[in-house]
Formats: sequence, C-alpha cells, structure tokens
Amino acid sequence: MINDESGIKENIRQVLENVERACKKANRSPDSVKLVAVSKTKPNEILYEAYDTGIREFGENYVQELCDKIETMPPDINWHMIGHLQRNKVKYIVGRVAMIHSVDSLRLAEEISKEAVKKGCVVDILVEVNVAEEDSKFGIKVENAPAVIEEMSKLPGIKVKGLMTSAPYVTEPEDNRIFFEKLRKLSVDIKDKNIDNINMDELSMGMTNDYTVAVEEGATIIRVGTAIFGERNYNK
Ligand SMILES: *Cc1c(COP(=O)(O)O)cnc(C)c1O
Repeated sequence: MINDESGIKENIRQVLENVERACKKANRSPDSVKLVAVSKTKPNEILYEAYDTGIREFGENYVQELCDKIETMPPDINWHMIGHLQRNKVKYIVGRVAMIHSVDSLRLAEEISKEAVKKGCVVDILVEVNVAEEDSKFGIKVENAPAVIEEMSKLPGIKVKGLMTSAPYVTEPEDNRIFFEKLRKLSVDIKDKNIDNINMDELSMGMTNDYTVAVEEGATIIRVGTAIFGERNYNK
C-alpha cells in the first residue's frame, strides 16, 4: 500500500472492521467499544502512523516510557496506563493520564488518591481482576473485589469506572470467553450493590489474540498492540 509501508493504517482498519463484526454479532453499537492502541516498546514515529489515522487513545506499560511519550507526542492524546504500577511511581503519572487500568490493590488506590488530592485532580481508574487466577498475573481475586472496591469508594481523588483483566495467553481465543463472561458478571454484581462513587460502565478486556471474543462478551475498552504495531522486540 502506498504511504503505508509499515501497514499500520491497514492493520487499524482491520481491527476496527473485526470490532464492527463482533458488535453486530452481539447486537451492540460499534461506538460502545473504545480501541486503545498499545504502543509499548514502539518509537514515536510508529505511534504517529496510528495518530495520523485518527487514533487518540494509546496504552503504555512502563512509567518512564509513558512519561517520555507524553512529553514528546501531541497533547490531544489520551494516555492509558495499563501495566503493573508501583506505588513509588504513582506521582509521575497522576494528572497526566486519562485512565489507570491496572489498579490491583487497595494500597495502590490509596497512593493514587493521596497524589490526586495533592495535585487537586481526580483520576479515573479501573480495578484489575485476576479472573483466570493465574499466578503470573497481577489483579485482585474475584471474591475479594467487591469488598476492596467498597473500600476504594471512600477514597477522595479517584473515580472507579469499571474493571479490567488480562486473560491468559491462548492459541484458541474461545478459551478465554469464560473469563470475559466472569468479569462482566462480576461488574454487574458490583453495580447492583449501588456503592457510592463507584461506576461499572467500563470493561477493559481483550488483546490482539482475543479482542473479538471480548467484544462479544461486553468489552467497552480493548487494548490492542501486536495486531496494530506488529511484534514487539524487547531486546533492542
Ligand atoms: C501488552 C499489553 C496489551 C497488548 O497486547 P497485544 O497482545 O500485543 O495486543 C494489552 N494489555 C496489557 C495489560 C498489556 O500489557
């Protein structure tokens, strides 16, 4: 394709087309799904190719890389912190990101709250749940989530907007359907508790391998890296 040597424009078109098809299947409006382009490890010139097709939601995993990109990319981008966040790094991103997806403990939420109050801002967060109960993954256990979220509801400066999960790496995306279903059910259970200051509108689930299944199960935010930007090289 002319002017699309890296194929990123075409990749995005395909992802959006797949999302549209999954929405049709599930009787949902394609507008109800937000695509976050996961750009970790990729240099700015690659991000610009996505930016130029209209993408304004970018996801990053590492605080230093995220901060560098915030400082050097256009200001109209909404940045999503999706990777594990250490409490001592919270201060670098509060007030600068649109959403923190990976809040996996009450202590982390408390730190974000403290920093937000100090800066006079409100931070939108998602609570990461380890629905598949993988030892290698961060996230709160399903059975603990309602109580933890109830505690988070008392914290100033943060707004819980929903839940997030990373499903296992599988070759058959259908294998992850049960986990997406589980997260959706959990969000309904929590919503039914009508906890003050807690909103369950967002479900951040689905990556390159399984985003169509996630959309069929109700994802409102999908986090797609490889399908847009290609394989990542961590050894550079
Ligand atoms: C890297 C990453 C993604 C994107 O993964 P792909 O398989 O490349 O789409 C999504 N979510 C999280 C939390 C990630 O770390």
